[in-house]
Amino acid sequence: MRTIHASLQEAEDSIGKVDARVLVCEVLGVDRAFLATNPFHILTETQDARIDMLVAQRLMGHPVAYLVGRREFYGRDFAVDGHVLIPRPDTETLVEAALKRMAGACSVLDLGTGSGAIAVTLACERPEARVTAVEKDSQTLQVARSNGETLAPGRIEWLEGSWFAPVAGRRFDVIVSNPPYVAAKDPHLGQGDLRFEPEGALTDGSEDGLGSVRAIVVAARDYLVPGGWLLLEHGYDQAEAVAKLLEEAGFESRESIRDLAGIPRVAVGRLPA
Ligand code: GLN
Repeated sequence: MRTIHASLQEAEDSIGKVDARVLVCEVLGVDRAFLATNPFHILTETQDARIDMLVAQRLMGHPVAYLVGRREFYGRDFAVDGHVLIPRPDTETLVEAALKRMAGACSVLDLGTGSGAIAVTLACERPEARVTAVEKDSQTLQVARSNGETLAPGRIEWLEGSWFAPVAGRRFDVIVSNPPYVAAKDPHLGQGDLRFEPEGALTDGSEDGLGSVRAIVVAARDYLVPGGWLLLEHGYDQAEAVAKLLEEAGFESRESIRDLAGIPRVAVGRLPA
């Protein structure tokens, strides 16, 4: 029989302190303070075996968020599984930028919602806003819907389809998206945690990674009101290219916003009023 202390020690040696603590807490259903104050607590055989299994999976590269089934984003816990991209802190920059441009009963469209992290956060932070979220993969949409039911019940219109297809003929005050933008041959795709995330959420197969961004920018004008805003997350080296696309598509004012690491991460365009 192992104690918390022994189990933690072994897990830490193979996957590091932070991940080891998260996984042991998850299996025991306790918080980190419990681990520190009860080092000689004896684990059941089931708990012991479950910890070993999770540590082995983590060692193979499975992201912690998938192993525990959730990830915190903008102060809320989102359920995640292998059908959705794990919400990133970078995307909180996109959310902040959108919130600044949302007032009163405005309408917002989130394209390729994934886990629903963006749409749900906007709905929670702006109770008067009307939020619509589109996702082309039905299993992904199920995860998003379920996050919506938990965190913002009845607040979001969930639509299945590709980009603007399900909102034909409609116009919004704000359109946001964190589309796939990793270049098809980017070596990171085959490394680390990314190997376990849905490939289609990371790359659309285009050589420069901008295939989806281009499609969204070109069409967005027809789905925005005059003076409407388009906000897009993009890769670390794509700010200039996206700004150019926005300019070509008639977005008269443009802005580039940096993430917490100081990297240009979000492009904002506004249509003439
Ligand atoms: N920021 C993600 C990554 O680099 C990519 C997300 C995306 O393509 N939208 O892992």
